[in-house]
Amino acid sequence: RAKSEGRNLYRFFEPKMDAMVQTRRALEVDLETALPRQEFDLDFQPIMNIASGEITGAEALMRWHSPVRGTVAPDQFIPVAEDIGLIVPLGEWALRKACAAAAGWPPGLRIAVNVSAVQLRSDGFARSVISALAFSGVPAGQLELEITETVLMDESKAVLKALRQLRDLGIRIALDDFGTGYSSLGYLRRFPVDKIKIDRSFIRDIGNRDTAAIVRTIIGLGTELGIVVTAEGVETELQLDMLRDNGCTEAQGYLIGVPSKAADIQRLLKSRAPRSQTG
Ligand code: C2E
Ligand code: MG
Ligand code: MG
Ligand code: MG
Repeated sequence: RAKSEGRNLYRFFEPKMDAMVQTRRALEVDLETALPRQEFDLDFQPIMNIASGEITGAEALMRWHSPVRGTVAPDQFIPVAEDIGLIVPLGEWALRKACAAAAGWPPGLRIAVNVSAVQLRSDGFARSVISALAFSGVPAGQLELEITETVLMDESKAVLKALRQLRDLGIRIALDDFGTGYSSLGYLRRFPVDKIKIDRSFIRDIGNRDTAAIVRTIIGLGTELGIVVTAEGVETELQLDMLRDNGCTEAQGYLIGVPSKAADIQRLLKSRAPRSQTG
């Protein structure tokens, strides 16, 4: 009985499943050719020191301009790129491109690059980072790698070893989307990070009493640990005021600046960088 039911279910879902598999397969095919066809680009979003109002750097955000699909958001193509292994060469491309852009910025400004867990686990990751720095001439202290909590919960020693090696060189490690993962916090003892980025879902709901308490607690945690706390997705003056009142170090979001082309961000950085670093 179970067998025939299973067969019926299969028949019922078959056309829909087929369509999904084909849609996905088509996306994979387009993605595989996108890198050699130079369809990827990076936008850069400024990050501001809240106390001084100065721009301290920018985060590189990947864009896929597909001739047939239009501009595809990273949330839609990064997971697929991870599945088909494309994330390794694609991530390497992003690192090189981001460092090349940062080489033209005033000295001292930081470039943040997102790194996927799959990319981190790949052989030669640390080497590819070091090579991107050497090729561009950007000092290690100006590069920041954004990773997610799950990366630090990875049991594999190789990942922690690679991260430690990079950190020893002066490269900074930031925890992206903080608060959305398992947040056991135990990993913060095993691997010290340089920055925590509060996920934008908390900033969006910062008007809520409980959410505000969580945000204050994360800022307090960062202060106690002596590391930078950056709020993501800051869109209103009210949100920025609350963050300033509670001693949050940095803000990033549409209020400060939207992700922009390399040339535009370079202009902005030259006009709003800390004086001591531009002169
Ligand atoms: P993320 O690293 O947390 O980046 C922040 C995201 O929030 C970006 O979305 C940015 O455009 C968006 N954002 C910034 N300010 C605001 C705001 O005020 N309001 C709202 N609603 N959104 C804001 P984006 O560019 O679509 O990127 C999504 C995610 O894709 C990133 O989240 C990151 O996890 C991933 N990603 C982007 N570029 C790369 C990359 O080069 N490599 C890897 N592995 N992942 C990347
Ligand atoms: Mg990020
Ligand atoms: Mg984030
Ligand atoms: Mg994210």
